[in-house]
Amino acid sequence: MKLLIKRTLFFLFSICFFPSFSFGQNLEDTLLLKNYEPHSIFNIQISNVKVAKYPVIDTHSHDYAKTDDEIREWIKNMDEYGIEKTYLLSCSWIGLPFEKFVEKYSPYKNRFAFCCSFDYTDFDKPDWEKRAIESLVKCHKLGAVGVGEMGDKGFGDLYGYPTEGRNIHLDNPKLKPLLEKCGELKMPIIIHIAEPIWMYQPIDRYNDGLINASKWKVDTTQIGCLGYEQLMKSFENAVAANPKTIFIACHYLNMNQDLVRLGKLLDKYPNLYIDIAGRMAESSCTPRATRSFLIQYADRVLFGTDNGTTKEMYRNILRILQTNDEHFYIPDYNYHWYYNGFNLPDKVLKKIYYKNAKKIFH
Ligand SMILES: [Zn+2]
Repeated sequence: MKLLIKRTLFFLFSICFFPSFSFGQNLEDTLLLKNYEPHSIFNIQISNVKVAKYPVIDTHSHDYAKTDDEIREWIKNMDEYGIEKTYLLSCSWIGLPFEKFVEKYSPYKNRFAFCCSFDYTDFDKPDWEKRAIESLVKCHKLGAVGVGEMGDKGFGDLYGYPTEGRNIHLDNPKLKPLLEKCGELKMPIIIHIAEPIWMYQPIDRYNDGLINASKWKVDTTQIGCLGYEQLMKSFENAVAANPKTIFIACHYLNMNQDLVRLGKLLDKYPNLYIDIAGRMAESSCTPRATRSFLIQYADRVLFGTDNGTTKEMYRNILRILQTNDEHFYIPDYNYHWYYNGFNLPDKVLKKIYYKNAKKIFH
């Protein structure tokens, strides 16, 4: 009898609170995770950020514009949101020699700055360093303000141009003369090391960033591929061995999961900086920890986007940095986390937006 009452009560409860349950359909069993797109229901502050509070130097972008019209459209968007200057980082995928790359933007060169790549052609030949330095100096004379984006996700600097630096990691002894030369020429090294930690963890139900992690998973079982810790070590070796060269680790050094560790590295190496490009999702999900970090290390953080040229992109990033908005959704970044604003103090915004960039780029 007791059991019957219990079952009846459970049935009534199910109808009231889980209507789908009672009709044999259970959405949680059929809805694909990739299709889950909840809309926030909260009646809370929604800021309409119209412009950056202070002029912005975007130190991490790429050659996204395909035509002159697209460059002009981009500049219009920059103007609207207060982006004074955008640094275009060279990357193997641009497929243009540095001079052509600069030429493409030359009518607008007061709005863009350029970084070049190391030339790894004939890396195994004995006089490679000499030729690579000549190529670096040539780019510097053409206006290169830094070297990057270098990118080592395990197999060396695969962003090199015209030849990728396969299996050449930043602490390779042959790179030392180039890194020193960069220090001498006051050209920061801008490098993407590893990937967010979710991409190295098992792709299973416990993976905190599952959707993005499964797309960008790093397979460290491939022969020759360095893992996350080995990459961090190779990076740290180079930063430690070249104190007169400035290193900008892109994307919070892909260390959003441990800002205490990142802070310790910044404490240890005064020549180390980070940019915040392309890691809005990974930082905005921990707004209080990230805000404290950005305030504490405000002198070492650079603004960057790495995310195209649209107005929405600028608006989203500024909203995260400038407002106290919470629990808002930006589908583009493909995590199922809500976004939250950092509401950074003006003093911090000024440093991140332009002061630090003006200090380290010449
Ligand atoms: Zn990039």
